[in-house]
Amino acid sequence: MDKVFLIVIDGLGDRPIPAFGRKTPLEAAKTPNLDKLARGGISGVMHTIDIGVRPGSDTAHLALFGYDPKTYYTGRGPFEVAGINMEVRPGDVCLRVNMGTVDDNLVVVDRRAGRIDDTNPFAKKFNGTVVDGVKFLVKAGTGHRLGIIMRGKGLSSQISSADPKELGVKLKTVEGLDASKEAKFTARVLNKFLLKVYKEIKDWPLNKQRVKVGKLPANFMLARGAGVYPELPSFFDKYGLKAACIAGAGLYKGVAKILGMEVIDVPGATGKPDSDVAAKIKKAIKATHKFDFIFVHIKGADTLGEDGNPEGKKAFIEKVDQAVAPLSKLKKSLVVVTADHSTPCALKNHSADDVPITIFGESVRDDDVEAFGERACAKGRLGRIRGEHLMPIIIDLMGLAQMFGA
Ligand code: ZN
Repeated sequence: MDKVFLIVIDGLGDRPIPAFGRKTPLEAAKTPNLDKLARGGISGVMHTIDIGVRPGSDTAHLALFGYDPKTYYTGRGPFEVAGINMEVRPGDVCLRVNMGTVDDNLVVVDRRAGRIDDTNPFAKKFNGTVVDGVKFLVKAGTGHRLGIIMRGKGLSSQISSADPKELGVKLKTVEGLDASKEAKFTARVLNKFLLKVYKEIKDWPLNKQRVKVGKLPANFMLARGAGVYPELPSFFDKYGLKAACIAGAGLYKGVAKILGMEVIDVPGATGKPDSDVAAKIKKAIKATHKFDFIFVHIKGADTLGEDGNPEGKKAFIEKVDQAVAPLSKLKKSLVVVTADHSTPCALKNHSADDVPITIFGESVRDDDVEAFGERACAKGRLGRIRGEHLMPIIIDLMGLAQMFGA
């Protein structure tokens, strides 16, 4: 049975960059190794959720693994908290949080507090805080991120976000999204907690020091993505494959954990553009001794797209290309390279544009695609697929698909 490598280059797809002669960062990058995979593989384009739908990273990954996000997605919070090893209990409401910067009028100045890289002091200070009988468990994630679990009686995940997701506008008051008293109560308690945190940290020595050296203060916990732990069949139960995940950022480890995959930690995997991608690929190849399916998540391209940095995105893609070189030499393997969504630099956000996909392996039918890129893959034999098609295609190429009929 072939071993499967699913390499997800987050936010890889892009739109034409005038400075690159209307090529995308992927098309402009020198990618001899990704091109080799495309030449020896079958290529196409993919809408991870559906045509015209802007995928979140969480819902896109559920779809890639064959879990319909319309059925299984309750919010991003549970994946974030699972990804940073927080222990979740039934009834817990899980939230993802950015440390952000607001001014004295609670207008958002920066959603990531100048990409602060350590939120541990904030987590330590507020972990265990109780507001109106609800306990707040707080833990630091990567970079500017935190996870929060609200634990107590009568909570609901049907609450809105505190994060307006744009700059220069006032913070949003969290509100109940349905008429239930649980939703109203949860929103009220969360608002109280967030304001308490703000009052206690705005003039904190740590923040005074940040301002002194020209950095933005980290003074507000932008909480969003409330959800309860989803109940779903494990990846093993669904496909009979032993799966492992190699990722830097918490969200992807969290998705993998919730699906029952084993998370393999790799030193130097940061979930940021400085991540040691080559070490992740090496570890993935080693992991085939124990696992059938290895999911490798690579985050940097998405971050650089969100920063509106096409040069940086192109350079990062070239780094990924160097790292994946060993994959084209493997026997008895299927190597899938794709993305969860496009993050065009011009948009600084996810778009509904399709993403390129290549499946490389001895058993796949060749096509005439010579390069791995948005326009090259669009000419491939795989055509235009949705994320939900990916696992059935992989399972069939592995020779494991059940016949429909007789
Ligand atoms: Zn993503």
